[in-house]
Amino acid sequence: MNNKSTEQKNNNRHKRFETTLLATQVLILASAFNAYFFGHRITDESQIFSMLGIRIDILLLAISALVVVPLVRILSKSNLDKATLYYFCLLSLITAMMAFVEGGLYSVPIMCFPIIAIFSALHTNSKVFFSICAFFCSVVVLMAINHESGWYQGTVSTGAMRMFDLLILVLISAYIAWIVNADSKRLMANLKQDHLQALESKKVIQHLADTDPLTGLANRTFAKKQFEAMQDDMDASKEEIGLYFVDLDNFKNINDIFDHQIGDELLKNIAKRLSRLIDTKSLVCRLGGDEFLLFIKVRKPFNYEMLAKEILISLSEPHIIFGTQAEVTASIGITVIEDKLISFDNARKQADMAMYKSKQAGKNDFYYYSKDLHRDYMRNLNILNCLKDALSQNLFDLHYQPKIEIETNQVIGAEALLRWTRDNPDNLSPGEFIPVVESTELIHTIGAWVIEEACLTCQKWHLEGHEISIAVNVSALQLARAGFYEMVVEALKVSGLKAHYLEIELTEHFLVQENQIIQSQLKSLKKLGVTLAIDDFGTGYSNMGYLTHMNIDTLKLDRSFISGIDKAPTALAIVKVINEMAVVLGIQVVAEGVEEEEERLLLKEMGCSIGQGYLWSKPLPSKSLIEYLENQKPIIVNIKSHDSSRLEKTLQHW
Ligand code: C2E
Ligand code: CA
Ligand code: CA
Repeated sequence: MNNKSTEQKNNNRHKRFETTLLATQVLILASAFNAYFFGHRITDESQIFSMLGIRIDILLLAISALVVVPLVRILSKSNLDKATLYYFCLLSLITAMMAFVEGGLYSVPIMCFPIIAIFSALHTNSKVFFSICAFFCSVVVLMAINHESGWYQGTVSTGAMRMFDLLILVLISAYIAWIVNADSKRLMANLKQDHLQALESKKVIQHLADTDPLTGLANRTFAKKQFEAMQDDMDASKEEIGLYFVDLDNFKNINDIFDHQIGDELLKNIAKRLSRLIDTKSLVCRLGGDEFLLFIKVRKPFNYEMLAKEILISLSEPHIIFGTQAEVTASIGITVIEDKLISFDNARKQADMAMYKSKQAGKNDFYYYSKDLHRDYMRNLNILNCLKDALSQNLFDLHYQPKIEIETNQVIGAEALLRWTRDNPDNLSPGEFIPVVESTELIHTIGAWVIEEACLTCQKWHLEGHEISIAVNVSALQLARAGFYEMVVEALKVSGLKAHYLEIELTEHFLVQENQIIQSQLKSLKKLGVTLAIDDFGTGYSNMGYLTHMNIDTLKLDRSFISGIDKAPTALAIVKVINEMAVVLGIQVVAEGVEEEEERLLLKEMGCSIGQGYLWSKPLPSKSLIEYLENQKPIIVNIKSHDSSRLEKTLQHW
């Protein structure tokens, strides 16, 4: 574009120079004729301007017109700047000569001096311009001296010659004025075009700066401007702004399972669906990744729930992309802004917090921002900061809770449980800080440390003669990240622990997720010999196909079924059925949270082989567990000391 316009400009300059040369040629020839026909009366024949009967001024004019000008034209084809320089030199010399010859200070051609000076100022550089001015000044001084000394008389101008000279002068001035005018017009036109182009480019740049390139939706920058504009002309007594923070739930899976192209198309689809749900006065923007922000200015009171439900329904409808069916759900956070002073970033953060809450509560739902939510969020943020320090200062420990063979009361394994024992600012329990860890990337670092530490400790027990297994809790986030399997292999290698002594405990709702990475890492772990347990069994999903599909080794019955089982017939029925099913499937059942002897006896009667709970031991530091292992004695059960008749009744009932 730029090269083209430079080329065009050069062409124009060239053409104009050619025209100027042609005009000059004609004018010089006209001057020659003028001098020849009307300025022939020479007062002194011996003067230098008349040699061998030939008028030298006329000869020079003829040579200039017929030889020098064509030569300058040829030169202009290869070097326009040089040709322009020569042209001005020629013009100055000819004019000076003609002025000299035709009466010096009183000649007509002397009037061409300022015109040529102006012309050169417009078309050459300052050096040439000043040289020409100096030259003309010198000529004028010379002519004045000549005038005083009477050294050279020059031709005697006739009236006709003066007339022709004046005509030539008028033509030259007119031509130069015309060129200057044409140049300035072209310049103005160019400036106007450049200005229009600059405006157009500014518009394009502005559009790019305000738009998300993938979806064509407004981006965060534009959203901020729009929000502030909405806020400015909001009538706070009657109106308010509703912000919906929409975050896709399983978008990462889509990108992992399919490829990024499908992910991109899906985001475009989502953008279209969201845009369809709002009117022209509202705005949808993409904040980045799979996060969208919708805001609407509404009259109070407004039914925010209805729009939230519409969004959830619209987004969850299957998307057909390049013949592939993809499904996503979304979590939404809503905040209502009535205050004209709240900043866009704070409003967005409020909606973000509410969205986060909706994720935590199980996704595919919406939540409103509230002061309580804010307090929880800030608390979690505080915990997270303390956790980061704790991690960098190695303030975590593992405690081990024995798993007991109910029949013999022998320890067959232990579950590693994370503890933050040292410098724990608010004495946070695992139940409080682990969900915070699990909601961030920290889970990967802490989770890896747990596995390494648990393997090392278990191998140490083996070396001390206690060949028991170790179970570790693993979150879905850890398993969903590629490289988890390799990390386990490395932990086993470094510790020297045999794979079949390691058990991984997972909560069941992660297994029903169709996540390829989770599934394939679990299969690889199984192949390696690591065993798999379903933690908190019974609290989650009822789809149990995965038990056989994933070749699960252990079911850990949730404490809620076990606690008070002897007094709760429904729980007892569930535990009995689960036990029977497990026997058929060849799966081991561990009853969690056994606290009472009656519970243990009932479990034993139902054929539940393993138990874990405060009845035997709380989670202990490794050293104390070794002592426990060394001192373990079968529990002497004194059924009589418990309410045996009630127990018998319960069993009879089943
Ligand atoms: P969980 O895997 O179900 O672990 C069992 C929890 O029940 C432990 O709580 C344990 O101390 C407690 N418990 C055991 N027996 C009894 C009993 O008889 N009565 C009562 N009332 N409680 C009993 P803890 O250590 O507070 O752990 C809470 C949860 O934190 C764990 O539940 C587990 O989901 C998670 N967790 C603990 N350590 C880790 C870890 O290293 N990684 C991950 N991802 N999660 C962990
Ligand atoms: Ca567990
Ligand atoms: Ca559990």
